[in-house]
Amino acid sequence: MIIDSHAHVNFNAFKDDGDEIIKKCLDNNVWVVNVGAEIRTSARAVEYANRYEEGVYAIVGLYPLHIKIDDSLSDITDNEDFNYQEEFIYEDYLDLAKNKKVVAIGEVGLDYHYFKEGDNVESIKKRQAEIFIEIIRLANEVDKPLSIHCRGVKSRKELDHARADAYKDLLEILKNNPVNKKGVLHSFVGSYKTAREFRELGFKLSFNGIITYSESYDKVLTDTPIEDILVETDCPYLTPRPLARDERNDPMNVKYVIEKIAKVKGMEVEEVIKIVEKNTREVFEI
Ligand SMILES: [Zn+2]
Repeated sequence: MIIDSHAHVNFNAFKDDGDEIIKKCLDNNVWVVNVGAEIRTSARAVEYANRYEEGVYAIVGLYPLHIKIDDSLSDITDNEDFNYQEEFIYEDYLDLAKNKKVVAIGEVGLDYHYFKEGDNVESIKKRQAEIFIEIIRLANEVDKPLSIHCRGVKSRKELDHARADAYKDLLEILKNNPVNKKGVLHSFVGSYKTAREFRELGFKLSFNGIITYSESYDKVLTDTPIEDILVETDCPYLTPRPLARDERNDPMNVKYVIEKIAKVKGMEVEEVIKIVEKNTREVFEI
């Protein structure tokens, strides 16, 4: 059994064939955890999960780029996928989060990727942090873990510094606002040292197609014990190699992520599948 711990079959890219894709996955022993990014896609993730007896689960939350910052800063991105701005309403997410098919709260966290000249960076950072802390309170109220998204700024020149910065801010928040059930850092792209810091706090790390694009993540993969690793596709995005990057990704492709981990760690694919399944079941209590 392979569990895609972070998928978006609940997104528009699958609006015509989402159930077909999910049935195919279940027939092939691939379980799917669909993750919301705002109230509509969170509700849709729960609907998907409720349609299946077993093997389909939901994560609900408000993605940092969908947080309404304030009226003067309503357009923080120029990406049309992320131009939806939402006021976080605790009670609405609480209603969804109580559903027994909801296995975590996410994807939530910090995203500095679209910072550009003229942005009031400090005020955006502050707002993202405030909402994230509210969401930690929610996770603790329903006693569920977090699925965390964290990304630094886009500019190559500042990339390393800014990445470190976003993870640094995140660590600080998690230290000051403990999450009872911990959780997972999805799509982890930090260094092995940063990975250690999160692991010390009790969090696991999830990897996707990004690790198949280059050798850049081999070090963090070899340094991180297999017991702390989850796998995901983040579909429809981040299609793993050897498939074409512009092909729509789906949960069946999570096997390529597993193969890369097995190769880098010098393990049998079957062994990786077995341990990662156990890890995922533990985090999400499924
Ligand atoms: Zn995602």
